[in-house]
Amino acid sequence: MALLEVSHIDTYYADSHILFDLSITVEAGEVVCLLGRNGAGKTTTVRSIAGLTPPRAGAITLRGRDIVGLPPFRIARLGIGFVPEDRRVFPNLTVHENLEVARRTWGNGSASPWSEERVFDLFPILRERRRQAGGTLSGGEQQMLTIARTLMGNPEILLLDEPSEGLAPIVVETLREQLGRLKASGLTIVLAEQNVRFVSDLGDRVYILEKGTVRYQGSMARFLADDEVRRTYLAV
Ligand code: ATP
Repeated sequence: MALLEVSHIDTYYADSHILFDLSITVEAGEVVCLLGRNGAGKTTTVRSIAGLTPPRAGAITLRGRDIVGLPPFRIARLGIGFVPEDRRVFPNLTVHENLEVARRTWGNGSASPWSEERVFDLFPILRERRRQAGGTLSGGEQQMLTIARTLMGNPEILLLDEPSEGLAPIVVETLREQLGRLKASGLTIVLAEQNVRFVSDLGDRVYILEKGTVRYQGSMARFLADDEVRRTYLAV
């Protein structure tokens, strides 16, 4: 049984039909990348999994249990941590307080819990910024804090929505190394991205979305070797 199975989902925003019969499988320990142009449906897919825009048809199962219709906080407590694209940190709280709030809200008492020290080991810059207000951090630091907050909830699966977007190349590189360390720790990751270079060393498998459906799936190695696929669906 796959850790996470998205089967044949249809998702809407009000009357707009966005995802069509979309299926994705995620095995424990994998980094699965969702690629596609702007508007392809990557964000809607991770929002569907996180319970923010529940699909109207199809199933999403975590270890075989259907989670469709559960409120987002329940899905988070079951072990699916969502890092949204818009980096919601509490601007008036310090880095330490942002992490503390997350621990209280989402902490699920898993066997190898994340602590503030452990997230600071992964993101050393946050240790330096510990007493600083979240709103004063740079874009890259806010992205790291958003990921760190989600980790404080001890997720089994991390959903990341375009983490590299809008960040300077050097910061993107740092973030890529940090996510590589998370992968090495055994965390399962679903990574929605437009930046192929960012995911190419991280990802195990790739799904390419277009107009709300899966157009291609394969191993990262196969995807990288296929110029035609990249030209057709990604324009890179
Ligand atoms: P992006 O890189 O722009 O985030 P994406 O692949 O993540 O792209 P989605 O954000 O999932 O794509 O958008 C898929 C489609 O849904 C697009 O056509 C978009 O216009 C539409 N859409 C997104 N949010 C809403 C909304 N709140 N109401 C109606 N349509 C929406």
